[in-house]
Amino acid sequence: MPPQTPELPSEDEQDADFLARFGNSSEASENYSPIPDGYVKGRTKFVVVLGTVMSGLGKGIFSSSLAKLLKDKGLSVAPIKLEGYLNIDSGTLNPYRHGEVFVLDDGLETDMDLGTYERILDQDLGRQNFLTAGQIYTEILERERRGDYLGRDVQMIPHVTGEVKRKLRELALTGNDGKPVDVVFVEVGGTAGDYENGFYIEALRELAFEEGPDSTCFVALTYIIEPSILGEQKSKAAQLGIKRLLEAGIQPSIIACRAESPVTNQVMEKIGMFSNVPMSRIFSMHDRESIYTIPDAMRAARLDGQILSILDMHEGVDPIHEDKSRAEWQQFTDRITSPRRHKVKIAITGKYAALRDAYASIDKAIEHCATDLSTQIETHWIDTSTIRNRADAQEALEGMHGIIVPGGFGLRGVEGKILCVEHARTHAMPYLGICLGFQVAVIEYARNVMGLQGAHSTEFEPDCAGAIIAELPEQKELEGILGGTMRLGAQDVAIDAGSLASRLYGGATSVRERFRHRYEVEPGYIDRLAEAGLRFSGRHPDYPIMQILELDRGVHPYFIGAQFHPELTSRPLTPSPMFMGLVAAAIRVSEPDAALEDVPQRWQPEDTTNGHEVARTSG
Ligand code: GLN
Repeated sequence: MPPQTPELPSEDEQDADFLARFGNSSEASENYSPIPDGYVKGRTKFVVVLGTVMSGLGKGIFSSSLAKLLKDKGLSVAPIKLEGYLNIDSGTLNPYRHGEVFVLDDGLETDMDLGTYERILDQDLGRQNFLTAGQIYTEILERERRGDYLGRDVQMIPHVTGEVKRKLRELALTGNDGKPVDVVFVEVGGTAGDYENGFYIEALRELAFEEGPDSTCFVALTYIIEPSILGEQKSKAAQLGIKRLLEAGIQPSIIACRAESPVTNQVMEKIGMFSNVPMSRIFSMHDRESIYTIPDAMRAARLDGQILSILDMHEGVDPIHEDKSRAEWQQFTDRITSPRRHKVKIAITGKYAALRDAYASIDKAIEHCATDLSTQIETHWIDTSTIRNRADAQEALEGMHGIIVPGGFGLRGVEGKILCVEHARTHAMPYLGICLGFQVAVIEYARNVMGLQGAHSTEFEPDCAGAIIAELPEQKELEGILGGTMRLGAQDVAIDAGSLASRLYGGATSVRERFRHRYEVEPGYIDRLAEAGLRFSGRHPDYPIMQILELDRGVHPYFIGAQFHPELTSRPLTPSPMFMGLVAAAIRVSEPDAALEDVPQRWQPEDTTNGHEVARTSG
């Protein structure tokens, strides 16, 4: 070992100095920068992804793909999304405007980007991975009222920025499993130059300075315009956007160029020249067949090596872990691009039919199954507000091989959904009902098979004669008032052995799935529904809360519903079992006579559609 240079202070001395200058004592310095207990400066590295030119370019996809490359190398990673808005969470956001509300295991309602992180990283996230300006201000104002600021005036800098740094360091210290993280990936919502994310950018600049050299890698994700009137890519908008970052004191180490077609070397050279970034650290993030091929593209461009160099992390790499993870992912991406053996049409009833982002996780779950089962899936979105009778339902579902009724709130289109369920049930059409789709399946069964007049949900008809779906008082006691009276987050589901559900989940009798609902099956009707043939094969382990329903396979080839959202836990390499079952059943409908040897037994319905005795409408 080379002798230590005497004039350099030791690590401990550096840390003591750091704590003295920036530590917990608010009188020690103007630079209020709270450090969590046990935090070691420089131990965790930070990759910060910032947008320029415009938002909505895929910062989350870039960030999660890069994080995946490092995770594959055996490093631990934790992402965090910083939102500029004042909402505490995304629960009150309209999916029409913002895309779907993604629910985490611990019940936090977040932006759909967290879904991208979970899917690409194959990692469960929690509330520590999502921060809004509203959360920060709430916390600061509460601290202020408690007198925690010891008589100081509370300011954007250093208090708000200090709080942001505290959150990032807390995540670095405990990650998602209580252990220090190797690399934290920070995604800042919006664009450099926005009013509302300015304090995040300043906090990150300070963080990079305080953590020291080689600790932080800033990535600028920019957009290369290609106006049709010019017919060529232009770099000026990107240059100006990156300038906003430089003005804020942030020097990007990596630039990702989002574009429709591959970005030309000329354009990349120009951007690099004006932002001090060498060509080897500029990446063309053009449109690709699937976002899941981006990690491979990054590796091909050697971006992973660049990141390791920037953060001085080459030594932490585990090549065996990397080879194994790469091979698994490669198998998956090979299947994405290979020709499909089957083709099915799946109807999805959707109020937001025009905006696919509102159903992003369902889209993804379908994509995962399509890849796994080598099937081309054509999705048909149906606006059920135009379905008024059986003939309308028949017409809308003509030629479909399966149907999904996804979650939803509000009365619009509900009767049309019930008519679609009836059609699927009486025509042996594979059915997957999710949350509201589970509830309307119960209503349909109660009305048409059990003969319960006026069966409905109190969400839609508070005084209905047959309140078969109702808001339960027990639920309020159980769940407290978080998020109003919604049940949010993951719960255990006890599954009957031998049921279709258990078969789909590989024989499991207990699974964990994520919920987001306010109404459920009224316990007083459970026995009557069961006598009429509706099987509740999944329940809360301790309370009479119905979580999965199904029809016996002698009655229907694939009819299943979940009070939870199976799409939220579907991952590329482990697609949701309920969706897999639906797609396999749809393949069977589209190819009734084929042997289907390539479709694993687990997903295949035991009987074929042919010769099914289908429960007929009695009402
Ligand atoms: N609106 C129904 C409820 O609150 C279903 C919710 C959903 O589909 N996410 O229970």
